[in-house]
Amino acid sequence: MKKRLLILLLLMTYFFNSEGRSPRVIIIGAGVSGVAAASRLLENGFDNITILEAENRIGGRIHSVKIGGYVVDLGAEWVVGEEGNAVYDLADPLGLLEKCSGYNAWNTTARLFGSSGEEIPRDVASGLVQYFNKVMEEINSKDESDDVKAENLGQYFDPRLDKYFKDHPEISPELHEPLKYLLNLLDNVHDAGKSWYDVSVNSLLKLIAIDGDHAINWKERAYSMLFDLLMKKYPNPEEELPVKEKTKLNTKVTKIKYDETSVKVTTADGEEYEADHVIVTVSLGVLQKHMDTLFNPKLPEKKANVLKNLTYGHNAKIIIYYKDPWWLEDLTYIRGIYWTEEDRKELENDPLRKWMLSVSVGTRIEHKLKLLKTWVTGEYVTEMELVPEELFQKQIKELIRRFFGQAYNITEPTEIIRSMWNTNENFLGTYRTAGLPEDKFDNPTGDYAEPILINDKPVLQFAGEGSSVHWGMVNGAIESGWREADRLINYYAKN
Ligand SMILES: Cc1cc2nc3c(=O)[nH]c(=O)nc-3n(C[C@H](O)[C@H](O)[C@H](O)COP(=O)(O)OP(=O)(O)OC[C@H]3O[C@@H](n4cnc5c(N)ncnc54)[C@H](O)[C@@H]3O)c2cc1C
Repeated sequence: MKKRLLILLLLMTYFFNSEGRSPRVIIIGAGVSGVAAASRLLENGFDNITILEAENRIGGRIHSVKIGGYVVDLGAEWVVGEEGNAVYDLADPLGLLEKCSGYNAWNTTARLFGSSGEEIPRDVASGLVQYFNKVMEEINSKDESDDVKAENLGQYFDPRLDKYFKDHPEISPELHEPLKYLLNLLDNVHDAGKSWYDVSVNSLLKLIAIDGDHAINWKERAYSMLFDLLMKKYPNPEEELPVKEKTKLNTKVTKIKYDETSVKVTTADGEEYEADHVIVTVSLGVLQKHMDTLFNPKLPEKKANVLKNLTYGHNAKIIIYYKDPWWLEDLTYIRGIYWTEEDRKELENDPLRKWMLSVSVGTRIEHKLKLLKTWVTGEYVTEMELVPEELFQKQIKELIRRFFGQAYNITEPTEIIRSMWNTNENFLGTYRTAGLPEDKFDNPTGDYAEPILINDKPVLQFAGEGSSVHWGMVNGAIESGWREADRLINYYAKN
């Protein structure tokens, strides 16, 4: 402990600049990338750090909440991949993670229910879901050198599904479109697009996948545990880095003015902060909406153009707690739902109920046996968030009874919560996704991450999941925070 303190003191002396003070760094956003950047800077003797966070909590798109005695994630949930995954490297040696056997059971235990309550025979349902997973794995195993003759994911799936349906006459023709629509929604649990016709195959092929299990869970804990690891609070609380002390919550940044002398940051309450460096970690969605007014001078045209053409995704979760769950006897992992064409048309004309068309599935959650998780993806995610609370609670109960009421003895839910990522002004969506417009850029991620230098000094820096080659992921967000902290550490090592 003493040795650690001494090293820190030495580093702090080393990094005092010519004016006799430690460089002033402002980090905008206390999500995982901001906290990763702050932790690394603090560990390297940069003491003059302020984190400005608009929400009333640290965590950003990692948001673990309590329900029915469990702690569950409304945002990031899985550790995706093992080899070289920063989250895996931090958490697995401490025994905090578990490879998700239930998720892998997608392949074997699917049941599919229609909007009039009927169920597709289980072997037929499982066969279709297995085939869907096989095609997903096939595309995920390809890379840029493969000649894939489809521009978007929908084009890739369509002929394959048409052939599958032809080879399986037991699936009646009127179910083909409803089932395609369901699989489209299931894909967007990951791809977070409005539709798989908007998901760029080219961009998926370029995405650098991490080897290993792609659905690792935190056992009875949740993703918020990661912050204790990054801040070094766990396993030794006395080693905690002072990230929380450096964070100002409920502090929304509205202006960032930069020139050769400093960066001035103004917040919604009129306060002004001055720094030598600012690391911006707000989401791609927030940048897209505000970049024209947030930065003075405006961002260089090349960066602004790339940011506008990247695609930021939308999806949502609904978590339902039952004191007395109705599904426990049945080990099925996913229960997919589909709407008949006739029922779909009726709902499409009902503005307060059409969000239900975006619900695809109810799944179990490992280690949290009395919770049911529902994904909302595709076209009507925002509509779901806009439904008034009382009506929403009623609608969820109606939805569950409608689809599962014939097959199960449905009980009353005890508590229902939903995520609000898309209508919350501090997020405006969920994560960067593989959109078609980015296909016209050679190096969109590099352009996003490029700092603004004045006299070779990084004045304005960009972190956050969207700026990482592992975009969309927590590990990518961490890497981006560390990348920008290292940029400053290296700059002061040379200057
Ligand atoms: C529903 C959902 C499911 C996901 N599932 C997974 C998963 O299973 N596995 C996985 O690896 N990843 C998953 N992700 C992605 C992962 O959560 C993100 O990649 C990661 O958390 C992003 O971190 P970040 O620091 O880049 O951004 P954020 O967490 O968004 O942090 C940015 C911070 O900036 C703040 N902010 C915004 N505007 C301002 C402003 N003007 N002034 C001050 N502060 C501001 C925000 O409040 C926020 O706290 C999921 C995300 C969602 C939403």
